[in-house]
Amino acid sequence: MQIIAKKGVKLFRDFYIDMDIKPYTFPDVLRLPIGFENEKIELLKTKGDRVKKFEIIANIKNNIPVYSSVSGKIIDFFTSRSADYAENMKYAVIEADGTDLPSYPLWEIKSGYTKEEMLEIIKKAGIINEPLSGYFTEYINTSTKYKTIIIDCVDDQPYDLSKTATLLNYQKEVVGGAEILAKAFGIPKIELLITKNFRTEELLKSKIDNVDFVQVKGKYPAEPEIVQYAHKTTALRVGTQCCRALYRAAFFGEPQISHIVTVWGEGVEAPANCEILNGTPTKYLLEKCSANGILERIVAGGIMTGYVISTEASLFRWDGALTVMPLKKHSKTYHCLNCGRCAEVCPMELAPYFILRNSNKASEKIAKQLCAGMCIFCGACSYICPSRQPLGQKIREYNNFLNGGSEK
Ligand code: SF4
Ligand code: SF4
Repeated sequence: MQIIAKKGVKLFRDFYIDMDIKPYTFPDVLRLPIGFENEKIELLKTKGDRVKKFEIIANIKNNIPVYSSVSGKIIDFFTSRSADYAENMKYAVIEADGTDLPSYPLWEIKSGYTKEEMLEIIKKAGIINEPLSGYFTEYINTSTKYKTIIIDCVDDQPYDLSKTATLLNYQKEVVGGAEILAKAFGIPKIELLITKNFRTEELLKSKIDNVDFVQVKGKYPAEPEIVQYAHKTTALRVGTQCCRALYRAAFFGEPQISHIVTVWGEGVEAPANCEILNGTPTKYLLEKCSANGILERIVAGGIMTGYVISTEASLFRWDGALTVMPLKKHSKTYHCLNCGRCAEVCPMELAPYFILRNSNKASEKIAKQLCAGMCIFCGACSYICPSRQPLGQKIREYNNFLNGGSEK
C-alpha cells in the first residue's frame, strides 16, 4: 500500500544522523511546561514545595495530570507567551536535587485491559499523541468503531527523525503499545506508516517484520494525504512515541515524563537523537550536542514547521526536533515576483501571497475569504519562494491573531 503526496515540495535530504538515542541526564533546573492558561489549570503545588519524580503538580483541562519529571523543589512559576500558539503557557521552575527514585507503578498493572480501563490509563499517564500535537485522550472518539491503528512514523521533514529513532530503538515497546491498544478497543488491524527518508526506509524494512507497512511517497508535506487515508480507513492514528508511552503506562504503570528529540543544525557539532525529561531547557540540550559559536537561531519542531525558541525555554512534548541554524542565510527578502509558485505547491490549494498581502486588521474579511484558517503551517510556500518571503510564518501569526491572539 502506498500514499502519494502530489502537492508540496521536494526536500533536500543529503545528511545522516546516528539513529541511536542518547539517554536523558538531569539538568540542574527544569522549566516544566504545565499548560496553556486557557486550559483550566488546577495547581496542586505552590512555590517552595518539594516534589518527587512522578508527583502530580497540576491537573489541566478535564483532569489530565501534569507530573514532575524530577525530584526537587519548585522555585518559581511563570507564564510566557508562545508566539506559535498565541497563548500564555504556564511553567513550573524545578530545582532538581539529583535523586531519581523510581516510584512506579502508579496504578494497577494487568496483562490486558478493557476499552474503559485503557481510556483511563491514557488519561492518567498524560500521554501525548505527537503527530497531532496534543493529549492522546482528546483525539479518541469513543463512539467511532475504528477499523485500523495507524502507527505514524512519517518523519517527512529533514532534521526531524524522532519518530523513526523511537521505532528503531524501542520497536518492542512501540509495536507492543499499538497491540495492547488494538486489543482493548477490538481493532483488527495495525499498519505502520513510513516515509522515504534517506536511509531509514531500508533500515526499517530490514528490522521490522511483524507489521504491515504503508509507504508515504512523493512530496512534503504528507499530512493532508495521511489525514485523508486515516479518514478513509476509519483509523486511529498514533505516533511512535505515543505508542511507546502507552506500552510503558500499560505494563509499568509509568506516566509519560520524557520524549525524544532530534538535535541538528550547523550550530551543533554532535547532532543526535536525545531522550529528554519534560522541562529540559534547550540550552542544556545544546551543550549536550556540543553547540558552538554564536547561536543565532534555534528552531523548535521540524525545520519546515518549527518556531523560534530561546535557550532558556523548553520544548513542548510534541516537538520532535531542535534545529540550530544561522539567521544570516534566511534574513534577506526581496519583492514578490508574482510567480505563483507558492500557490502551486500549497497542499491546501491556498493562495499564500494573497493571504500575506491581506494579513492585517483592515482586510481581515478578505483573508477569511481566502481561507487563511485552512493553512496547515507546512512551510512549503516559504521554502519554494524565490523572493524568500516568510509566507508560512506570517500566515501562522495571522491565524493566531484571527483566533484571538495579538497582531504581529
Ligand atoms: S499557505 Fe499554509 S498550507 Fe499552504 S503551503 Fe503555505 S504553509 Fe503550507
Ligand atoms: S512564490 Fe514568492 S515570489 Fe512567487 S508569488 Fe509567491 S510570494 Fe511571490
